Amino acid sequence: ATPVSYDYVIVGAGTSGLVIANRLSELSNVTVAVIEAGDSVYDNVNVSSTTGYGLAFGTAIDWAYQTTNQSFGGDIVQTMRAGKAIGGTSTINGMAYTRAEDIQIDAWEALGNVGWSWEVLFPYYKKSQQLQIPTEAQAAAGVTYDAADNGFEGPLKVGWNPALNVGDVHTVLNETYAALGVQWSEDVNSGRMVGYNRYPSHIDVALNIREDAGRAYYYPIANRTNLHLYPNTLAHRMTWDTTAQIPTANGVVVQAVNSTTPYTISANKEVILSAGALASPLLLELSGVGNPAILSKYNISTVVDLPTVGENLQDQTNTGLAIDTAGNTSYSGTSDYVAYPTAADIFGSEITNISATVLAALPSYAATVAAASGNVTKASDLLSFFKIQHELIFSTTHPVPIAEVLLTPSGTAVDCEYWALLPFARGNIHITSATAGVPAAINPNYYMLDWDVTGQIQVAKFIREIFATQPFAGLLGTETKPGFDVVPQNATNAQWQAWNNGVYRSNFHPVATAAMMPKEVGGVVDTSLKVYGTANVRVIDASVLPFQVCGHLVSTLYAVAERAADLIKSEM
Ligand code: FAD
Repeated sequence: ATPVSYDYVIVGAGTSGLVIANRLSELSNVTVAVIEAGDSVYDNVNVSSTTGYGLAFGTAIDWAYQTTNQSFGGDIVQTMRAGKAIGGTSTINGMAYTRAEDIQIDAWEALGNVGWSWEVLFPYYKKSQQLQIPTEAQAAAGVTYDAADNGFEGPLKVGWNPALNVGDVHTVLNETYAALGVQWSEDVNSGRMVGYNRYPSHIDVALNIREDAGRAYYYPIANRTNLHLYPNTLAHRMTWDTTAQIPTANGVVVQAVNSTTPYTISANKEVILSAGALASPLLLELSGVGNPAILSKYNISTVVDLPTVGENLQDQTNTGLAIDTAGNTSYSGTSDYVAYPTAADIFGSEITNISATVLAALPSYAATVAAASGNVTKASDLLSFFKIQHELIFSTTHPVPIAEVLLTPSGTAVDCEYWALLPFARGNIHITSATAGVPAAINPNYYMLDWDVTGQIQVAKFIREIFATQPFAGLLGTETKPGFDVVPQNATNAQWQAWNNGVYRSNFHPVATAAMMPKEVGGVVDTSLKVYGTANVRVIDASVLPFQVCGHLVSTLYAVAERAADLIKSEM
C-alpha cells in the first residue's frame, strides 16, 4: 500500500475520537488521520431509530466483548457491548444524556489530577452541546431544564425524544417519589443529579434520529482535506522511533478488513488512542507499553514499563424488575423517567450503620482488589481512592446519587432497570496474544465486594417500595419480575443475591483502564492525557476516567475530549 503520513493519527472514530478529529482538523495546517475498525452506519436504521434501543445488539456493529468467568457474580460470562462503527458506542447506546455530580469530577483533582475539576470541565460540557428546547406538550408533561446549565451552540444535538410520554404518569411518579423523599430535580445536568427527573437524550429532534458522534462531529466536516478517515481498518499496534531517547510513537500498523497485508500509517506528531476502555489498553500492551510480566508472555518487548495499563477497570451491573398495571392504564413512550436516589434514600434508617460498616471494610476491600491484580495496584493507593469514594457516597451534607432507577411504562406493564452506581470492585483487561484482534481477558470482578452486592440488592428493595407507594401503587398490579414467588416480600439478602446472580448484566459503562492519575498511585496517563514514559502518545476515551461517574458516560466523554483537544492545541 502507498505510504501515508499525518501529523496526528487517532485510533478509533468513536465518541471521543471524533471530537479530537474534528477539533484538531479545524486547524488547516494540521493533518489528521482516524483509523476505525467499523464502517459508516449513517443509513443503518438500527442506529438512527430513536425508539430502537437494542436493535444493533449482536449485529456486525456490536463488538460484544466477552468477560472471563465472573466467579463472584454467578459463575457466568457477561457480554460487554460496544459499538464498532463511525461514531463508536454512541451509535448503539441508550442515548441518555446525563452528566455527573460536580463533586465527583472534583474528586479527580483530589486524586492529584491538577486542573481537572467540575469548574474546569463544565464549560466543555456546554461547548459540545446544542440543546433543543422541549415542546410545549413535553414541558406541560413535566420536562424542565435550566438554560444556564446547557450549551446551545455545540455540535451535539441534545433534546427530548418525540416519543416521550406526555401522559399523566409523570405527575403520579413525581408525587410518589416525593413521598419517598426523592424530590423533583430541575436539571439533571447542573452538576447536582440527586432527585427524580425526565432527562434529555442525544437526539436530533427535528429529524427524529439518533445524534451519534458521527452525525455531531464527523459528517458535517468530513470534506476537510486535512482530515482522512480510514473505515473498515483495524489498528494493530503503534510503531516507535528507534532513534528517540524517550519512547516516541511514529505510526500505527493497520490492516484493512478486505486485505491480508498490514501497512503503517505514519504519525509526525502524535498518536491518540480513542478505541474505548476495552480496546485502548490492549493497543498499549500490543505496542510494548504495560506490565513486563504480561508482555513477555507473548514475546512483546517492553518499551515502557507501566504495569497498571489495563488495571482499575470499573463497571456497574444492571438488573430489572417489572410489574403489570392490572389493566388500570395503558402507557406508552420512552424510558425517560429516571430517579437518582442517595444512599440515605435507599437505606433509610440503616444509613449510619451501613456507612460505618463500609468504612470499616475499606482496608479489606483494598487488600482484596490489590490481591486480585497480583498487587499491581497497591492496597494503600486503593484505600485512599476508596476513602474518597466512601465520602462521595455517604457524605451527610452532599452525597452523590447511589443508584439509577429507570422506569419504562410499556403497554400494560412497567419495566424498571436499575443499577448501583458506585461499586468498589476493580478488575482488569489484558491481551491474551500478541496478535491484534484476538479477544482479550476482560474481568470486571462483578460483585467482588459486599458493598457491590448489598448496593444492588438494596436498590431492588427500594424499587419495591416505589411500586408500593401511592399514588403510583394505585395504578399497579402484580410484580412479574422477579415476582414474590421467586423473591418473597421479606426475602433475605441471600435470596436476592441468588436471583440477581442469574439475571444481571453489564451496565456497559467500563472506565479507568488507562486511568488519569499520578504515576505514583498507578496512573497510566497524566493530566494532559499523555501516557507516562512516552513523548507523544495520548489516550482520550473512557479509559482515562479515574472513577466511575453517576451519569451516563457520553456527556462526560465529549467534555473530556473537548478539553483534551484544547490541551493538544495549546502544546502545538
Ligand atoms: P467508543 O465510542 O466505543 O469508540 C471506540 C471506537 O474505536 C469504536 O468505533 C471502535 O470500533 C474503534 N476501535 C476499537 N478498537 C479498534 C482498533 N483496534 N482499530 C480501529 N478501531 C478500533 N452512555 C450514555 O451516555 N448514555 C447511554 O444511554 C448509554 N447507553 C449505553 C448502552 C450500551 C448498550 C452501551 C454499550 C453503552 C452505553 N453508554 C451510554 C456508554 C457510552 O455509550 C460509552 O461509554 C461511550 O460511547 C464510549 O466512548 P469511547 O470514546 O470511550 O469509545
